[in-house]
Amino acid sequence: ESFTDMCLHPSIMKDIEFHEYTRPTSIQAQAMPVALSGRDLLGCAETGSGKTAAFTIPMIQHCVAQTPVGRGDGPLALVLAPTRELAQQIEKEVKALSRSLDSFKTAIVVGGTNIAEQRSELRGGVSIVVATPGRFLDHLQQGNTSLSRVSFVILDEADRMLDMGFEPQIREVMQNLPDKHQTLLFSATMPVEIEALAQGYLTDPVQVKV
Ligand code: AMP
Repeated sequence: ESFTDMCLHPSIMKDIEFHEYTRPTSIQAQAMPVALSGRDLLGCAETGSGKTAAFTIPMIQHCVAQTPVGRGDGPLALVLAPTRELAQQIEKEVKALSRSLDSFKTAIVVGGTNIAEQRSELRGGVSIVVATPGRFLDHLQQGNTSLSRVSFVILDEADRMLDMGFEPQIREVMQNLPDKHQTLLFSATMPVEIEALAQGYLTDPVQVKV
């Protein structure tokens, strides 16, 4: 399978080429067609496999098919990641793969950074939010953003998020999503806690492993 076979938006294809991603990695070849078809996905993959682009490209494709973002609009897609460093890497990939798309806004919401700046960015309206669970919930509780438009969710490095004690925050987010949404869960390991999380929040997921 090649990127050209995936019927991606021409701007996304351009950014993939600019990035010199010539061939999909194994996780990309397995996960992207599933994610692009609208199915939920349980992905077992580690950092270095190309998993970030494997979920980022279908997420951007999902968002460009929706109405443009206006002022005050909550995100269409949400990525939750365990650490600030990982969230920053994901945001970088999202920005790189959406650079040719007009009026596409991505916000990063992590602890240890200026909350007022994040608030005004969120309130301005965004397409995608990349966040750590604790800080995202703070903003949600303060009314700076909302889950009302979220129809695409990524839980990245879910095993690490659970290890760090983020399960209550993840559950709080998952329980308050609109009914119609797609979820992709990635984890390097599949302990019973991850299986339980997948059981609770994924609908008939396709499982992929590298
Ligand atoms: P990740 O596992 O998402 O952290 O990605 C590991 C590295 O692989 C990153 O530096 C990516 O930019 C790079 N990468 C991801 N997909 C591809 C691809 N299809 N071709 C070449 N490099 C890639």
